[in-house]
Amino acid sequence: MFARGGASRVGWEIWFVLVRLGLEDRGGNVARVTMRDEVLAKLKEVFGYDGFRPLQEEIIADALAGRDVFALLPTGGGKSLCYQLPALLRPGLTLVVSPLIALMKDQVDALRANGVAATYLNSTLDATESRSRLRGLHAGEYQLLYLAPERLLLDGMLDDIRGWNAGLVAVDEAHCISEWGHDFRPEYRRLAELRAALPDAGVMALTATATERVRSDIVRLLGLRDARTYVASFNRPNLLYRVTPKAGANDQLLAYVRAHPGDAGIVYCASRKAAESTAASLSRSGVPALPYHAGLTSEVRAANQESFLRDEVRVMCATIAFGMGIDKSNVRFVIHYDLPASIEGYYQQTGRAGRDGLPGECILFYGRGDIIKQKRFLEEKSEEERMVGQRQLDQLVDYAEGATCRRKVLLAYFGETFPEANCGGCDNCLAPRERVDATVDAQKFLSCLYRVRQMSGTSFGVNHIVEVLTGAETAGVRSRGHDQLPTYGIGRDRTAAAWKELAGELIRMGFAARSEGRFATVDLTDEGLAALKDRRAIAVTRAPEVERSRRKVRSVDFEYDEGLFERLRVVRRELAEARGVPAYVIFSDLTLRHLAREYPTTREEFHEIPGIGERKAEEFAAEFLAVIAEFGGTNGRREFRDARPDRAPAPSPAARVLSSADTVRETVARFRAGDDIETIANERKVTTGTVVTHLVKAWEAGEDLDLEDLVPAGLRPEIERAFGGAPATRLGEVKERCSDAVRYEHLHIMRALLQRRGAGS
Ligand code: ADP
Ligand code: ZN
Repeated sequence: MFARGGASRVGWEIWFVLVRLGLEDRGGNVARVTMRDEVLAKLKEVFGYDGFRPLQEEIIADALAGRDVFALLPTGGGKSLCYQLPALLRPGLTLVVSPLIALMKDQVDALRANGVAATYLNSTLDATESRSRLRGLHAGEYQLLYLAPERLLLDGMLDDIRGWNAGLVAVDEAHCISEWGHDFRPEYRRLAELRAALPDAGVMALTATATERVRSDIVRLLGLRDARTYVASFNRPNLLYRVTPKAGANDQLLAYVRAHPGDAGIVYCASRKAAESTAASLSRSGVPALPYHAGLTSEVRAANQESFLRDEVRVMCATIAFGMGIDKSNVRFVIHYDLPASIEGYYQQTGRAGRDGLPGECILFYGRGDIIKQKRFLEEKSEEERMVGQRQLDQLVDYAEGATCRRKVLLAYFGETFPEANCGGCDNCLAPRERVDATVDAQKFLSCLYRVRQMSGTSFGVNHIVEVLTGAETAGVRSRGHDQLPTYGIGRDRTAAAWKELAGELIRMGFAARSEGRFATVDLTDEGLAALKDRRAIAVTRAPEVERSRRKVRSVDFEYDEGLFERLRVVRRELAEARGVPAYVIFSDLTLRHLAREYPTTREEFHEIPGIGERKAEEFAAEFLAVIAEFGGTNGRREFRDARPDRAPAPSPAARVLSSADTVRETVARFRAGDDIETIANERKVTTGTVVTHLVKAWEAGEDLDLEDLVPAGLRPEIERAFGGAPATRLGEVKERCSDAVRYEHLHIMRALLQRRGAGS
């Protein structure tokens, strides 16, 4: 059976009738609690989510009913939840086979942060650690086990697994089983034996890429039985697609990255060298960026990837070697600095943006020069490869140059028809390109090129020409006498940026040409000269300008308090650093935005926020609520005009009540009793940061506590200098100005002390 989109809910219905649980309530009456309620309650309790993404519900229902399932969901579609939730709802162990060893630890950390008993076995563990985990597995201590496929080859592994009462086997990245896929892993073939060893277990195959051929391989080689196939739409409604004419790509990139401070993104480059130089140039301009490509040692690659995952560097400049399994949900943009090799590749790479459901932007820098490069590259290939390559190139050129909806073109490639006329989320739909007459302006620009060359006998860069046109009074213009030219100042009616854009367009149209090299200059071409002399009419396509505010992409996008969001990010960073986990293991950006919108004041309100399950509510409520209260105290609460973000109603599990005031009181009591920070943190199972937050909060509320002693006297002058008389500055910035001995806790305390001192003077 085959279901696309949310079309088939038959699975639910059948299963719904089959599995109803009869539970006895206290009064002895039989309370019919449907399984569906239980599933939803678990979803909220553990993951903090209020509803399902498309097809998740159906897939989970099938898995719980013991059926084999084949799930084809796009990146960001929420595949993990499809097996994680059933793992919690059924007895015994759920086995997750995944080739992405580097990610297992983070995934397991993320599950543990939600209070799930999960573990993994792969080659990164030493023998002692493996043995201890195996013991735990024999003792039935775990609900989820992530397993690298090569482990299946180990002697006795299958026997072990047979003993663990595994009722569900999830095969992630299932396309790895097929030689026709782009990432064949021979070890995956052993999964047939796993199936044979566990004849009663349900098998779930998951992937984001599968052509027809790969699909049938998966079903056959995994031995799926009567599996229902779910194919979600490949449309990613929260992604915006744009093609930007390439004109000084380095500057364009920098301008974009600067215009989106705080956003993380990937820049795909065609070569290792380009990845290196782009990363270097961004870094030089003050944007933390690192390269990633196959020419780096695996240690460097792992370290760079790690820094990116942990939000330490903002931009990853990568070749396509960087990709599969980049489990970073808050990638806000994917920019292709060079032309990708195929539409499929382009779709997969852009898919890494916006996995958290928040808006993401996918931008292709497109210049005809790249096509020539690609063609040259193809010429060296065999006849067959050349033909395939040429077709892929043509498809890309159609995508880039066409005026039709980008989304339509991408989805058509996957055999999907996008039904609406206007997708509202691509440059072509948002700002249909119009051709405008630019004869007069083109004449001005071209004649300025001509005059400048005539006077100086050499050519100049676009910037200089634009300065002459706009009548800029710069030394460069004056020293060369260009302010005496008849074209000096004839373009004052337009901005420099508009002139540069026109210059790019005229260059692309062949009226002018850029010289190669570091200091590219521009010159008239023969065609340009002819156009100038003949006063030829010139029409240009206006480069589509897409503003964020005009987007109507349907995604979770809502107003929130940016100031508070920034504060919460700092708190998240501190917590993540203290635990040595990536920031998203604590909370996703989406969750922080909800917090920065709702300003929760109680633990119950905190738990209501999407993405906050019970465990996290318990662990982090006090810390975040304190910051939110503090922020609200100084800045007030913002009113929002847009509608409240969509949150499906969810059964709210009875909240455990321990208000933040209570936890603060307990911390203070222990501190007064003489416990030190570490002891309090250990015993209360919170971070030292939390303890300090509690103490500072109490102190600010008037408690008489000796906080200053918690900061080593030797560090105090340094910290005070770092604050520079502005105690409200973000701690992350202050920390950067301090030596390594200074910890966030110290800053937190000193800020409070300095604030009071400032208020008192
Ligand atoms: P995939 O593996 O399909 O690329 P993931 O499993 O990594 O996707 O999920 C992508 C993101 O979506 C994660 O941040 C995850 O927590 C979130 N997510 C998954 N399911 C839901 C849901 N039902 N509600 C809200 N967020 C979800
Ligand atoms: Zn469109």
